[in-house]
Formats: sequence, structure tokens, C-alpha cells
Amino acid sequence: MTAPTPDSPPTLQVLHEVFGYAEFRGDQREIVEHVVAGGDALVLMPTGGGKSLCYQVPAIVRHRAGQGVTVVVSPLIALMHDQVGALGELGVPAAFLNSSLDAETARQVERDLLAGRLQLLYAAPERLLTPRFLAMLDSLRERGLLSLFAIDEAHCVSQWGHDFREEYLGLSVLHERFAGVPRLALTATADDHTRADIIARLQLEDARLFVASFDRPNIRYTIVEKDEPKKQLLRFIRDEHDGDAGIVYCQSRKKVEDTAAWLNDEGVAALPYHAGLDAEVRRRHQDRFLREDGIVMVATIAFGMGIDKPDVRFVAHLDLPKTIESYYQETGRAGRDGAAADAWMTYGLADVVNQRRMIDDGEAAEDFKRLQRGKLDALLALAEGHGCRRVRLLDYFGQPSQACGNCDNCLQPPATWDATEAARKALSCIYRFHQNGGQRFGAVHLIDVLRGKATDKVAQHGHTELSTYGIGADVSEAQWRSVLRQLVALGHLHTEGEFNTLALSASAREVLRGDIQLLLRQASESPKRGKSARGGRAARDKPPPLPLDDAGLLRFTALKAWRGEVGRSHNVPAYVVFHDATLAEMARECPQSLDALAAISGVGAKKLEAYGQEILRVLSSA
Ligand code: ADP
Ligand code: ZN
Repeated sequence: MTAPTPDSPPTLQVLHEVFGYAEFRGDQREIVEHVVAGGDALVLMPTGGGKSLCYQVPAIVRHRAGQGVTVVVSPLIALMHDQVGALGELGVPAAFLNSSLDAETARQVERDLLAGRLQLLYAAPERLLTPRFLAMLDSLRERGLLSLFAIDEAHCVSQWGHDFREEYLGLSVLHERFAGVPRLALTATADDHTRADIIARLQLEDARLFVASFDRPNIRYTIVEKDEPKKQLLRFIRDEHDGDAGIVYCQSRKKVEDTAAWLNDEGVAALPYHAGLDAEVRRRHQDRFLREDGIVMVATIAFGMGIDKPDVRFVAHLDLPKTIESYYQETGRAGRDGAAADAWMTYGLADVVNQRRMIDDGEAAEDFKRLQRGKLDALLALAEGHGCRRVRLLDYFGQPSQACGNCDNCLQPPATWDATEAARKALSCIYRFHQNGGQRFGAVHLIDVLRGKATDKVAQHGHTELSTYGIGADVSEAQWRSVLRQLVALGHLHTEGEFNTLALSASAREVLRGDIQLLLRQASESPKRGKSARGGRAARDKPPPLPLDDAGLLRFTALKAWRGEVGRSHNVPAYVVFHDATLAEMARECPQSLDALAAISGVGAKKLEAYGQEILRVLSSA
């Protein structure tokens, strides 16, 4: 890392000196400079893109220039706690005010705040909106010591998302009461609806909009057909993520419990997390996930917001998320450190059926349901598509791109087959059922009839007499399932009632007429993932970024053990002390002096001073 010169801009000096990073990433530099100069901004950046630096660097620069404190509005206590802990390690005076503090500590924080000692103060919106807090802000403002408002997770102001927080609506007060104090709103949710809501509700009409690239190139996307999902998951973890930290998302609490228990039986260290667990158990599980190496968290979507553990190596979905936004936000929790990571999902007909059902049976107004259906369709198109997954994802966020070479479809282009004829057969068979007594049937029965399997049920309903009986014997069961799933996904078929019987939608007519061609993924009879299919993990760029020779590995292990102790004694997660990537670079370069150590990415001035000598000692004795 090149040392900053006295005439580097102050933003870059802070990045080097405080954070120990060589360069800004992507749009960070432009955002930071705009905010330091006093501009308002709305920043859309994917999870893991580096949003925190966008307000932390301006906060430090502006405080050094005598402009006072930055107030960060954040919805989650755990997040505030981690961020303040990390800033403490960097030597930046920061604190939070929330309900977890005892009265005496809270008063001390208030004294520090009013005296202008803090560079950043984190607070939940409900706290910020209290008369007491607003009065303190008034006092700071009058003395020119209120520098900046950063509104994190700004999508919480929008009712369209699932993270809506009533208290966020009150934040319009910032603009009204503290006009002239710059405001920076940040979110990873990028759809137009949410964006418009944020701008309107926070009165950010004049703010500059920064839309970062939503690409997360280090994440590999894979979507497999559901076969035996738990076994598929286990194989995926064993083959590619043995000993890694990861998150497995399930829809129901019960499935979370079952899956976690099963993984443990199979020797994978897994913990459950869902809103039905005792708060204390949840806290303990989250804590272990953050602090220990290699824990797999099996969770509902109640887990994740505000988890900025950088070394989550995979995010697996056993159930389909609701929208591409949720999928992207959840998968974005993998690989924040920039090293290779996986987003892996299994998906089947039941997922499609369940999601459609949840929308149809929901309490929401019809226009909201229509919006939800549209979002589900986009996600299904992603799951069924045979083109590059990343191209489709980025396209959804309005960003054109080229085939990525790092998703399942790029790495192993799926065979396709023309299923137009098969689809017509299936639809006309359903039509015949209906003509023949008005009854509806589910997928299993339909496939039996198409394949000419004379089960009792088939005989009982006289379906051996149908003209469609046995017309699809040449198509395998798995292929039929894929045809039906994709017909449901595309909306030509839908399901009804508690038995999920199949019914034709209006657009089925076009398929029946042959106006719509269906090119489908070839259903694989047995999942062909695993080592041979992907070249195994050796082919991957795994962290720590190897190659480390044997001596280097020894040093890395010694550094990790040292880091674990420091983390425990400072009561912060290990990655707050140093990231894996930083330790790996130390192990590889084996610096012999403090100057050489300072050149390693992630080593800022404070950490050099606090830990430099110890690290040199650990390195020399490993
Ligand atoms: P977000 O809040 O957007 O999800 P974070 O702010 O948590 O992302 O940043 C993700 C990770 O990237 C963090 O571990 C952070 O330290 C690291 N990071 C951010 N900016 C840089 C940079 N310019 N150089 C190196 N690492 C960075
Ligand atoms: Zn691709």
C-alpha cells in the first residue's frame, strides 16, 4: 500500500490511516467526497458493497474539520453494537444510544455527545425522535457541532418491502428541523417503488442519487432442482464448504429446527435461529455464529439483517424466497470480504405452488397482490432460466451485463429440449379431465395418465379411456415434473384447493394452439453436482487466498489463535480485530518491521500501534 502524501485528499488519508485500506471501492470515493462537501445523497449499493465507509469516512473527515458529530440512524441494536465495537478497534470515538444501555452509561454517552467528543453516534429511530434527543441535537446544531445524518437501511421507510418500520416515517423531521445538515440515506434495496418511497418520505428530492453496480462477482449462483433437499444440502456442504461458516434459509420454524438437528447428526456444526426461539437463545446462537469459526446457521429470514460477518462462505436456500430482492439481499450476506462464496438454492414444484398460494390467500389488497405476483414471476424466471443467472439478476436491477462465467448455467450450460409438444399434451389432458366430469386432479395423477400407468385411481375414474391416456409415455416422470413446474411458473397452469389440483389459466390456450414455444432445461435424473461437475473446491479461489506454503500456514494458524484471544478479551467478534484476508497477507508476507506491517491492507494506524509488536512476535515465533 502506498503511503498517503500530505497533499492526498483528506478522505484518502483517513481511508489509509484509520482503516488501513489502499483504495476506495467502486463509487465510494465519489460518494464520500460529495458528502464531505455537504451534499445530500441516496446510495443504493448491494449488501457487502461497502456502505459503512460511505458515512464513516465523511464522519471522521468532518469531525477533524471541527464540524462535529455524525448521527447514524440504524434499526438494529446488534448492528450498532458491532459497528461501534469495530470503530473502537480503529480508534474512532463512537457510541450508541439504545435500550440496552443502563441509565448511567447512557448519561455518559450523552455527556460525550454534548461535549463534541464523539465522531459517530448510532441511534435507533424511536430514540432519535424523543423530545430529549431532539433537544440535544438542537443544542449541537446551535453550536455548529451537528455534522451529518446517515440513515442506514433506508428501505425501512417503505411499506413495499418486508422490513417496514413505522418509526422510520418520523425521520422526515430531520429535514424539517435540521435543514442544512447533510443527510445520507443508504440501502441495498434497489427497486423503483422502494426508491421512490425513500425519496418522498425522507424528502430527498434534491439529493444526489448513487446507484452502485449490483454485481457481486465473487458470489457463485447455483439453483438445483429439488430432489432430496436435505441430502443435497449436506452433499453441497461436504463437497464444497467443509468447515466453513454459512447460512441456510428455510421458510418455517419447524423446518429450521429439523434441518439444524439433522446437520448436527451428520457432523456439521449447525445452530437454529427463528423468531419463535427465546430471545436469550437467539442471542447466544447469533453470538456463536459471529465469534466462532465454521458455524452453519439454519434460520428463517428473521436472521440476517445487520449481520455483517465478512467471512460467510455460503448462503443456501432450502425454500424459495419471495422476491428477487429478498434473494439478492439474503445471498448478499455471503462473501462480504470479497473472497469466493456460494449462493445455492434447491427449488421444486411445491415451492412454486406454496408461494402462489401465500399470495392468493393473503390479506393484501388486490393491487399489492398483483405486484407480489409479478415479483414472484421474476424470481421463477430466474430459477427456470437456462441463461446466465447473473445477467438476469443484474437485468432485474436495471443493469445490463455479459455472461459471467461464475454461475451454474455458465459453468455447465444445461441441455435444453423443446417441450412445446409435451406441454400441449399435459394441458389437453387436464382439459379432458374437466370435460369428463368436471373434476380436477393433481400432478401425480396427471403424470400417471400421461405415461399410461393404470393405477387404481386411474382406473376408478375411467381415465384409461381418455384419448390422452399414455400419450406421454416417452417422456420420463422427472421431465414431466419439470414441464408442470414450468407451466405453473410461467402462469399457464395454476393450482387450486387443499390438494393442489391443476387448472388451466387463460394463457393455456396459446400454448395449446402452439403459439408459445417452450424450451426447457433438461431435467436431470440424478443431480450431477459435486466434485466432478465443478472441479471441486481445489479449483476455487478459497480464502485465505492461498497459496500459503507450510510455514505460511503455520503463521496463519498462530495469527488466528492470537486473534481469537484478542477478540474474546475485547468482547468483539474475531473479524473486528482483523479479517481473514489481512491475517493471510501477514502470514504470506511475514513482515519483519512495523513499517512493513503497515503496508498490509487492513492495518490502520491504531491497530498498528495497538497490535504491531505482538503480531511481529507471533510471526517470528510461529
Ligand atoms: P454493506 O454495509 O454495504 O453490506 P460493509 O460496509 O459491511 O458492506 O462492507 C463490507 C466489507 O467490505 C467490510 O468488511 C469492509 O471492511 C470491507 N470494505 C469496504 N470498503 C472497502 C475498501 N475500500 N477496501 C477494502 N475493504 C473494504
Ligand atoms: Zn453466469
